[in-house]
Amino acid sequence: MAVLVTGGAGYIGSHTVAALLERGEEIVIVDNLQQGHKEAVLGGKLYSGDLRDADFLGTVFQENDIDAVIHFAASSLVGESMKDPGKYYHNNVYGTLCLLEKMNQYGVKKIVFSSTAATYGEPENVPVDELDRTLPTNAYGETKLAMEKMMKWFDVAHGIKFVSLRYFNAAGAHESGKIGEDHNPETHLVPVVLQVALGQRPHISVFGEDYPTDDGTCVRDYIHVSDLADAHVLAVEKLRKGGGSAIYNLGNGTGFSVKQVIDIAVEVTGREIPAVFEARRAGDPAVLVASSARARQELGWSPSRSKLEDIIGSAWAWHQANPSGYNK
Ligand code: UDP
Repeated sequence: MAVLVTGGAGYIGSHTVAALLERGEEIVIVDNLQQGHKEAVLGGKLYSGDLRDADFLGTVFQENDIDAVIHFAASSLVGESMKDPGKYYHNNVYGTLCLLEKMNQYGVKKIVFSSTAATYGEPENVPVDELDRTLPTNAYGETKLAMEKMMKWFDVAHGIKFVSLRYFNAAGAHESGKIGEDHNPETHLVPVVLQVALGQRPHISVFGEDYPTDDGTCVRDYIHVSDLADAHVLAVEKLRKGGGSAIYNLGNGTGFSVKQVIDIAVEVTGREIPAVFEARRAGDPAVLVASSARARQELGWSPSRSKLEDIIGSAWAWHQANPSGYNK
């Protein structure tokens, strides 16, 4: 029995493939390699293609004995989603529809879904609980919420059970040093800050200094990518044991402001990281911090790499060893 990982050549997908390999799972990966890197796939059988290509996806299901899917393949940039929402609906929502229809056709009844704190929008409570209101402030979060709702109705109609994992801010790199974060263009705070430390950028642009937070910059809950990967493995196990559909937040439960992240990166790297304050980025909520109590109780998940110094330290090791990412 194989696990199909869509988007398995991407950042969180590749770390999840690594975690599945450590457990001896048979793995099939589908990635269109638009954002992903084939060098990030440490094992398993990689198919290069798009979920929206029905013939291609049919071949993948035909050729493999798939019992569960972990679905990462999606566009995931808040800023881009505000400028080009159509891309997000097409790639994310339509791509997920194609996947669910194929799963239904082949009788695959388990899916673990890569969701996001962006489904909440500006949260009504901090930390955010899974039952809190979902009112996305950006098109990216709206498409992820639409994908979750699609899975709910495929469960009602076809019995496809889903576990949706709403992550807060993924960061860090694999302890082996073999894989890490490499987006093109890079827009995420931790890698951009480390590119400044490496001298690849003159400064970090801080988006907004007038948020209702202690220092005026946005607060986020940073979680190690390998801790996220572990949660996906646990979610597959839960579904294999007959667990029902569920939604879980994944975060450390502690918020750090953009300024605090920069300060910690200065400590970790021992380099100067000049900051320039700019306007707010459209679609950004002020504070996103997770309550992950349910994931701890029901999945038995417990993040083991929680210190932000260590998360940034692992990312720094990757960036220093791979200053051009996967492009050698
Ligand atoms: N951010 C920033 N400068 C950057 C990139 C990000 O000030 O160059 C801020 C962004 O406004 C947000 C936080 O850092 O408040 C985390 O952003 P990121 O894009 O890493 O993740 P997101 O929260 O959008 O998933």
